[in-house]
Amino acid sequence: MTQRNPPDPTATQDAGDIERLANVHPARWRNPTPADHYALVVIGAGTAGLVAAHAAAALGAKVALIERNLLGGDCLNVGCVPSKAIIRTSHLYADMRDAGQYGAQTPADIRVDFAAVMQRMRGIRARISRVDSVQRLVAAGVDVFFGQARFGASDWLTVDGAKLRFRKALIATGARPDTPAIPGLVEAGFLTNENVFDLTELPRRLLVIGGGPLGCELAQAFCRFGAQTTIAQRWPLFLPREERDAAQLLSDAFVRDGIEVRLNTTAVNVRVAGGQKLVDLVSEGHESTVAVDAILTGTGRVPNVDGLDLEIAGVEYDTTTGVRVDDFLRTSNPRIYAAGDACLQDKFTHTADASARIVVQNALFLGRQRLSALTIPWCTYTDPAIAHVGLYVRQARERGIPVKTFTVPMHEVDRAIADSEEAGFVKIHVRERTDRILGATVVARHAGEMINEISLAMVAGIGLRTLARVIHAYPTQAEGIKKAADAYNRTRLTPAVRSLLRRWLR
Ligand SMILES: Cc1cc2nc3c(=O)[nH]c(=O)nc-3n(C[C@H](O)[C@H](O)[C@H](O)COP(=O)(O)OP(=O)(O)OC[C@H]3O[C@@H](n4cnc5c(N)ncnc54)[C@H](O)[C@@H]3O)c2cc1C
Repeated sequence: MTQRNPPDPTATQDAGDIERLANVHPARWRNPTPADHYALVVIGAGTAGLVAAHAAAALGAKVALIERNLLGGDCLNVGCVPSKAIIRTSHLYADMRDAGQYGAQTPADIRVDFAAVMQRMRGIRARISRVDSVQRLVAAGVDVFFGQARFGASDWLTVDGAKLRFRKALIATGARPDTPAIPGLVEAGFLTNENVFDLTELPRRLLVIGGGPLGCELAQAFCRFGAQTTIAQRWPLFLPREERDAAQLLSDAFVRDGIEVRLNTTAVNVRVAGGQKLVDLVSEGHESTVAVDAILTGTGRVPNVDGLDLEIAGVEYDTTTGVRVDDFLRTSNPRIYAAGDACLQDKFTHTADASARIVVQNALFLGRQRLSALTIPWCTYTDPAIAHVGLYVRQARERGIPVKTFTVPMHEVDRAIADSEEAGFVKIHVRERTDRILGATVVARHAGEMINEISLAMVAGIGLRTLARVIHAYPTQAEGIKKAADAYNRTRLTPAVRSLLRRWLR
């Protein structure tokens, strides 16, 4: 199991990292003397653990929070926050690159100062780390322990030699990058999300292995920063979970960016020669070799379930799917719950947050909140971004639900035309002959913002008829949603209704 030691910020004297570490793992931290008994002990201080600890303490519970590395977990330190910070620069680069079509001029040779991009990112990470800080937790009354948690029985665990007894516990230990079994990869050295944000120099040539959200977001960003980037994806399209036309738009965007796209391609061997990494690829039976300076893997995430002595606590788990939970997020030990990446298929910060809130209600207040009741949107922050909520058509069909889809291409949305951001679409699926929204995919530059309106509609039971009545500010890209709702309304004009109207108007 990987257990990263906190990086040494004094090595680089980076002000951002010094501030972040002072917030999320202070060097001189001393664990407190444990209380006799805790109402809730939380293992892992990523999003799920922090949300649960703050919420439970605010409601008056005696809470202990255990973290073996950095408060804030993946999202703050090596996930959403640093990736979105550098993606912003990559958008800026693309805007400058395309400035000519907007009538603006930039120097022919736009250069991205990679070290400065990463320094900006570290500053942003430091700012956001204040929210996840040990100081805030202590002020909220949470006992914070740094160290590796291990269960000693069904109702107590140890951390750093201290014994913590609990009425309820939450496993929120997150996930870590999966290491693909490619001969020579480990020996050659490779990047994952755990170390790619430590880079201060841009690799001249980069191979990204894996075309999921992480691989796609970072391949596009690094390519725009100037790395000669190849992305190898084992499947016929990127983002295998998404609608095919959405993934195709992404492939097209990658090609426009200058990424060398290798679909249906598997990396089979890595060796080092002449200071470069030679990666053998197999694409539909054809073998080729790419020479690169760095390899970034994004081939999936595995839950952190080992090293906790879960067997001793009577908690069932699977090394690939994580801690086994029921719909109330309870494990096989009724005292112990799980939340976030450690147990969920949808590994997102907002699901870690939402699942932690369910645990607080169910564990401490006899709540009966269900995971299955959540409506979970997500977004891959490529350019264009790809966001989804609810069912895909294939899922609706598998469940025998008749579906009707309303699609509006972004080139029919005035704001997208005005912004020259026409790649994409809004696609909303409803149950046939009703306006009940089953799911939606949005591909657009701001898809991540737009999907929230559809999630709201789904959660509130608002159908397309009502969405069509909502006045959308003109011109906005979200008008694509209104247009899809208008398209639904037009289907209500059946020939019979039409002839009635005609007669009335006559
Ligand atoms: C590059 C990247 C980009 C991402 N971008 C997005 C995005 O844009 N939007 C989004 O919604 N999601 C994104 N995610 C996913 C998101 O980061 C995770 O879903 C989220 O961080 C999960 O939170 P968590 O609390 O479940 O786990 P984590 O954040 O992983 O936290 C778990 C914590 O538990 C600690 N821990 C583990 N075992 C022990 C132990 N035995 N004892 C003590 N402590 C332990 C770990 O050190 C860690 O700090 C991204 C992920 C990556 C890798």
